[in-house]
Amino acid sequence: MWNGLRLSRTLLVKATPDNGGDSRAVRDRPGPLSFVRHLFMIPAAMPYAHVIADASRRSAAPHEPAGHSRPLLIAVLGSTGSIGRSTLEVAAASAGRLRPWLLAACRSTEKLVQQAKVVRPAWVVVTDKQAAADEVLQDLPADTRLAVGQEALCELVQAPQIDRVVSAIVGAAGLASTWAAIEAAKTVALANKETLVMAGPLVMQLAARTGATILPVDSEHSAIMQALRAGGSHEVRRLLLTASGGPFRTLAVEQFASITPQQALAHPTWSMGPKITIDSATMMNKALELIEARWLFDIPAAQIDVVVHPQSIVHSMVEFVDGSVVAQLSPPDMKLPIQLALDDPQRFDGPARRLDWTAAMQLSFEPPDVERFPALLLGREAATRGGTAGAVLNAANEVAVEYFLKQSIPFTAIPQVTRAMLDDHPYQATPSLDDILAVDAWARREAVAWIERQAPP
Ligand code: NAD
Ligand code: MG
Repeated sequence: MWNGLRLSRTLLVKATPDNGGDSRAVRDRPGPLSFVRHLFMIPAAMPYAHVIADASRRSAAPHEPAGHSRPLLIAVLGSTGSIGRSTLEVAAASAGRLRPWLLAACRSTEKLVQQAKVVRPAWVVVTDKQAAADEVLQDLPADTRLAVGQEALCELVQAPQIDRVVSAIVGAAGLASTWAAIEAAKTVALANKETLVMAGPLVMQLAARTGATILPVDSEHSAIMQALRAGGSHEVRRLLLTASGGPFRTLAVEQFASITPQQALAHPTWSMGPKITIDSATMMNKALELIEARWLFDIPAAQIDVVVHPQSIVHSMVEFVDGSVVAQLSPPDMKLPIQLALDDPQRFDGPARRLDWTAAMQLSFEPPDVERFPALLLGREAATRGGTAGAVLNAANEVAVEYFLKQSIPFTAIPQVTRAMLDDHPYQATPSLDDILAVDAWARREAVAWIERQAPP
């Protein structure tokens, strides 16, 4: 017996004639096995042939309260952002099941204080030291304590009281606190895809070592997690990541150079923070998600495809070896994947919008156009190469998005800067975390230099 799995129905992975009946051969094959092992908390030493598990259910992590015996205490990193605010809505609608214990943000102190007055967390953290001097923080509730700086956040996120950590800081800035949470064996609801893009193998190894669980908040990966439960992991042929195609799905390629930030910030189906909205317009977001899926599900990039689906109803799919495709459908509303990552393996009647099956609805699918959206090729390349490629792609893209938003470079330069940094960077195949942070800094510096060479300030 081992912790956490309810034994019942489905054979999760079994020995088959094509692996000679040897369960270890199954275990060692590339595929989403380590994620499944991790998700269902199966010790690595447990031969899969002997694992009879209900693949549709994972019980709560050992340190978490069973059922509804007490609230789950959550830390919301990036609480003032789009994902953070939706998280607080989910918690408010959970009938006391989820209680925010810590809220953290960078500079938006006013919003943070407003949130603290409503949810009364034990702690708020402001990572920006200048912003931490804001007078508005005097208005925090008397029973809420204030901590300042990134180091304080990394320390507090490891507090034994915390059951689940929502990692929803935007960009590379989210890596350190997510790493700290995984180090402390927390269950992490991961919205900050950049953590896996930069350091996927190291992050997953750390989680395997500490016993932390990573549950995806990204809607595509949440859909895949749910769809994977329909079959054995050795039966997966490929993952199909859906993409809305963004606001420029049908725009002629000649017009891309004159796209303005305002146009790129108007996403047709999703309402999100500015960085991910620009990433969706370039389809760099899908590139980042391809890399995220590659590490999270431990599946080769060649087995991950992107399908454009403008309605954003089908959030992603898994194709099994028999040709069966299992999808997850719901309106484009992040509250659903957030809720699932916060309360998995349970589901509750939460605040996310529902599909209306009494009205006519059309779902369409088309292949992506890599000529207009070259970022997709960059993502596939980085997911295939691994090593430092993801960190370079991410850093160069963050710089390029920032320059595009302040109108210093055209829209079309975003994948160009990223391409140049991927080509030029001193690639390492098996970097340490320090190597990754060094290459992140290198790419930021070089991307700025590249931009200034193209258009001197
Ligand atoms: P956002 O810009 O709306 O919010 C970002 C949050 O991070 C804010 O609370 C901000 O204060 C905080 N933050 C920024 N820099 C920080 C720092 N250095 N230290 C501490 N806090 C910092 O972003 P968002 O749209 O909510 O996205 C957050 C993450 O979730 C991103 O990684 C994004 O890719 C991912 N994500 C978002 C969505 C979505 O629908 N918004 C969907 C999937 C994944
Ligand atoms: Mg997504």
